[in-house]
Amino acid sequence: MGRDGSVPTLGQEWGEQVFAQLSWFRQEQLERANVMVVGCGALGNEVLKNLTLFGVGHLTVVDFDTVEPSNLTRSVLFRRADADAGREKVAVVAERIREINPTVSVLPLSGDICHDVGLGLLRRMDVVVGCVDNRWARYCLNRLCMRAGVPWVDGGIDGLEGTARVFVPGKNCYACNLGPEALKELSYRLSCSSVIRRNEAAGRVPTTPVIASIIGAVEAQEAVKLLHPEELADGQLTSLCGKMFYYEGQHLASRVVDFVGYDEECPVHERWTPIEKTVLTTGWRIDEVLNYLSERFGTDHLEIVLGDHSFVDYLVTRRDERKFKVMLPDYAVERFVEEDAELRHLPSQALYQHEIRSIDAGFPYMELTLREVGIPEWAVLRVCTEQGDRYVELADERNYSKFLFQNEEV
Ligand SMILES: [Zn+2]
Repeated sequence: MGRDGSVPTLGQEWGEQVFAQLSWFRQEQLERANVMVVGCGALGNEVLKNLTLFGVGHLTVVDFDTVEPSNLTRSVLFRRADADAGREKVAVVAERIREINPTVSVLPLSGDICHDVGLGLLRRMDVVVGCVDNRWARYCLNRLCMRAGVPWVDGGIDGLEGTARVFVPGKNCYACNLGPEALKELSYRLSCSSVIRRNEAAGRVPTTPVIASIIGAVEAQEAVKLLHPEELADGQLTSLCGKMFYYEGQHLASRVVDFVGYDEECPVHERWTPIEKTVLTTGWRIDEVLNYLSERFGTDHLEIVLGDHSFVDYLVTRRDERKFKVMLPDYAVERFVEEDAELRHLPSQALYQHEIRSIDAGFPYMELTLREVGIPEWAVLRVCTEQGDRYVELADERNYSKFLFQNEEV
C-alpha cells in the first residue's frame, strides 16, 4: 500500500517507493532510457535481471543462441522447459523480464552483434552492455559503439575471476586497449578468409553463477550510472570509465586499476557523422540503390564500402581451379561449406574465396538486394564520393523506433 493507503501502481512501486532514498537516482531518466544488452548467457541474465529491477524503460536484447540444459545452472531467467523446447534465448528473457516488471518493454533481436545489428538501431541507445564471451564480439561491439558515439560496458568472466570495464567514445576504446596476444588473435581473424577460419575452436570458459552475479551486478551498476550524466559530471557518481574492476573469488581479492587507452590514430573508433536518413531499405536492389545515391549526391562516382565483411561470390579449389558459386556474405560461408557434400571434405587450404569488398557501378550482381549482400536492417552505409565519405542510414523498416520512443519522432 502507498503512504496514503492507496494501492501503488507498478510504476510507483518501482520508482518513487523503492529507490526514493537514493539521492542521485532519477527514475524518469531510467524509464525513458534505451539500453541494449548484447549476449543473454550467464552474465546477460544477471545484467537483465538487475536492469529490470531498476525499471529501465526499454531493453533491446541481442543473442543468436538457443537455451541449452548446460545454461540452467547459471542463468536465473531460464527454465528446464525452455531448454527442452530449444527456445531462443532472446525470446525467453523477454518473457521473463515482462513477468518481473511489466513496466519494462523488451525488444528481442535474434542475431549476431557482428553482422545483424544496424547502426541506426544501435546509435539510438543511451548505453550498451556487453555480455559476450569472446574478443571478436567485443571488437565488433566496440566498433559499432564508437561509430555511433554510444558508451558501452564490458564484462568478462572465467572461472572464479571476472572483470568489468566502461568504454566511452572520445575517452576510452576497447581496441586501443588490446594487448599483444589479443591483437595477434584479432589480426588473424581480420586477415584470414572465412574458409580458412573454418573449424575454429569456439573456446568455452568455465562459469559459475556467483561470478556472473558479481560481474553482472557491476556492469548493471555502471550502466545505470551512465544514464545519470549530470550526476556523473558533478561528482555525485564516479564511472568506471578509464579503469578496470577486477574480482577474484578463490582467495577473495578485488581491485580497481587504471585502464585507459585512446589513440587518436585508431581507425576502429572513428565516429560516423553526420548520418543522413534515407528511404532505402534492405529490400532495395543494388542498381536501385546506386541510382538513388547518384541522384542524391549528384555524381556517378560513388562506392558503397562493405567494410565490416565482404561478399563472396564463389569459392575456387586451388588445385584444379574449380569454381563453386556461393553468393553470400563472408560470415555465412563457413556454414555453406559445412553443408555442401563435396566442399566439407576438403581441407581449408584447398579452397580460396573470391571476395568483393565494395560496391560501385562495376558490381557484377546488380539484381541482388542490400539484404542479400549482408546489410542488416536499419544499417548505416559508408559511401565514398569525390567530396569525401557520406554516412547513409537506411529506413527503420521494422518500425523499431515505435518501440524505442513510444511514438515520439526519431
Ligand atoms: Zn581505438
